[in-house]
Amino acid sequence: MFSKILIANRGEIACRVIRTAKRLGIRTVAVYSDADRDALHVALADEAVHIGPAAASDSYLSKEKIIAAAKRTGAEAIHPGYGFLSENAGFAEAVEADGLVFIGPSPASIRAMGLKDAAKALMEKAGVPVVPGYHGDGQEASFLAEQAAAIGFPVLIKARAGGGGKGMRRVDRPEDFGVSLEAAKREAKSAFGDDAVLIEKYLIKPRHIEIQVFGDSQGNVVHLFERDCSLQRRHQKVIEEAPAPGMTAEMRSAMGEAAVRAARAIDYRGAGTVEFIADVSDGLSPDRFFFMEMNTRLQVEHPVTEAIAGVDLVEWQLRVASGEPLPKIQDELTINGWAFEARIYAEDPARGFLPATGTLARVRFPESDVRIDAGVREGDSITPHYDPLIAKLTVHAPDRAAALAKLTGGLERTQVAGTITNLDFLVRLSRQPDFAAGSPDTGLIDRDMEVLTSVQQPGDTALAIAAMVEAGGFAPSVGSDPWLSLGAWQIWGQSSRPVTLHFAEDQRNVRVIAKAPSLFDIVFDDRSISVRLLENDGVSRRVEIDGRQTHVDLFETSSGVTLFLDGHTHQFHRLDPLDGGEEAASGGDRVIAPMPGLVKIVRVREGDAVSKGQALIVMEAMKMELTLSAARDGIVESLHVGEGDQTSESAVLLSLRPEDAT
Ligand code: ADP
Repeated sequence: MFSKILIANRGEIACRVIRTAKRLGIRTVAVYSDADRDALHVALADEAVHIGPAAASDSYLSKEKIIAAAKRTGAEAIHPGYGFLSENAGFAEAVEADGLVFIGPSPASIRAMGLKDAAKALMEKAGVPVVPGYHGDGQEASFLAEQAAAIGFPVLIKARAGGGGKGMRRVDRPEDFGVSLEAAKREAKSAFGDDAVLIEKYLIKPRHIEIQVFGDSQGNVVHLFERDCSLQRRHQKVIEEAPAPGMTAEMRSAMGEAAVRAARAIDYRGAGTVEFIADVSDGLSPDRFFFMEMNTRLQVEHPVTEAIAGVDLVEWQLRVASGEPLPKIQDELTINGWAFEARIYAEDPARGFLPATGTLARVRFPESDVRIDAGVREGDSITPHYDPLIAKLTVHAPDRAAALAKLTGGLERTQVAGTITNLDFLVRLSRQPDFAAGSPDTGLIDRDMEVLTSVQQPGDTALAIAAMVEAGGFAPSVGSDPWLSLGAWQIWGQSSRPVTLHFAEDQRNVRVIAKAPSLFDIVFDDRSISVRLLENDGVSRRVEIDGRQTHVDLFETSSGVTLFLDGHTHQFHRLDPLDGGEEAASGGDRVIAPMPGLVKIVRVREGDAVSKGQALIVMEAMKMELTLSAARDGIVESLHVGEGDQTSESAVLLSLRPEDAT
């Protein structure tokens, strides 16, 4: 076994690898960019080496700097994690050329699966079923259109170098094929520098089921069952589970065997995932699953497999890379119970899942019954440089219903303040009826998008508590008389304070009346609620609202209050009086960059008339394309950016002529 390894990654996966290495007595070396000097993965490692500026291309993607860091610290092997250089055959080669061990498959295996078209051809030869379609070399638009017609619409155009759903377009009608092909090729070219595509039959209502495989350098290959990753948004996984609901023993062994055949065909060593798409229009059936691609690395969602199979996949990776045989043979592997994983992101579901940034003023995870793989801790920042993943929450229970209940509960007990998160969305998704009933499919989230992402309006209880906070009713008591804490507000008799609550795009005026030392009336326009403060020591707060007792958890900063109530997060803002509500005053006159990024496409020119909702500017930020549209009808008065410009957060990109100007 190695005595020291370097982890060529950051965030949760770097922390995850370090944890297992420590348990095995292996020393760890982290690498970090300027943006990560104080990051959790750096703090956890025994040593850390600075490898450059925040931009990943100059740090986490720099093969030379990473290999130099390994040599300088005497690390014997490099774990690539996922993303970054994990599936870069050239990197694996360079690591080996320098006499170090790449903790992963051989460069040849990575290459064999690197391009989707070549991988599909190889799998067909190995007797693994592939999605019907065209994956040859012909790239002429008219030729591809003929192929699409022969396959039959709807079809899916995929970039052969694709990943992360990029360069992928569904086409329903022959007349739309040309335009979609161009778009897919353009996206593929800019994301991968390769615009070649393949065409597949588009399956309606499919499920994404993947098989975890593992090989060693003695030629043994096993599979560790399946994961169902059908809950997706824009082809990205959101909640994953293992095993797959409705899976039969017959189908599991058919899929497991196909995956092992795929791995054997490329002499696979280490952890890998063979992704299949299952046509479930008639339920799961052993003759209707098809190879999509193989990921030659550890997957984000590997913890659900670890939970049901009772293994540590990173330990297996380290053992196999150091030359040991697989710790178990196929017959020794069994499934125990059910597991779910949810990916907690800094993003805003109500605004098209716009990635968010911010300093995590509070991060609290449930203390028991869940596994947390976090890459950040309280006080850390989510920056625009990298993936905005905060943590993965994994649960395990004897059966699916029990595991799902744990998932909902675990998400509800998670508290994050300081940025917008997808926690409410995940909670709602975990309760979605089709998912709960065990029939997920890749279109489920899109079909239910509105319900899943609508802004949670605060109810009376949340409004009443927020009003109490704003009126100072929760200020810590001085001595034993809570009355004193109210200071100037309450000296004698009944007194009242007006409060304006700002939340989402709404606001509410209420009046808080102190009736007795711990008894308040919160008066809305049309009704009033009585709040009794039962316990308030600054940490634990218990209130009785109209006869119902609740524990209140809240987090207050100068810019607002975050309430954690009944499993929901409610954000109330405080307006900066010096800011003069400029944003509101602009009345949608300006298009503002929501985050730092690159202006990719400007769709209008000065003087153009635009209508509300029309797409004006496409930005690329945090590896995502964002379309910024007009907030109202109007005329473009001035454009402040051009295609290719870098912009900072809150920069004004475009201004409309003021509404009253004629
Ligand atoms: P990427 O490598 O970009 O992630 P994949 O080939 O892995 O692309 O596909 C990602 C997702 O797209 C799948 O999980 C599935 O939801 C959907 N998908 C892929 N191929 C098809 C298909 N032929 N029909 C329907 N959906 C598909």
